[in-house]
Amino acid sequence: MSANRLVAPSSCHYCGIGRHEHFGRWTTGVGWHTFVPPDQTLIKARMLARRAARTP
Ligand SMILES: [Zn+2]
Repeated sequence: MSANRLVAPSSCHYCGIGRHEHFGRWTTGVGWHTFVPPDQTLIKARMLARRAARTP
């Protein structure tokens, strides 16, 4: 996944789609799933990735 595909820290654990637009979703490697909240470790990793992407 490239820096252009950064996702919101609180979006789906598996596919990175936001809770409000998720519903049921089929994703390669995961299959059919509903919104799964990310755990604290993943939220933190996503926040750090976004911060790193903003840094020149
Ligand atoms: Zn998902």
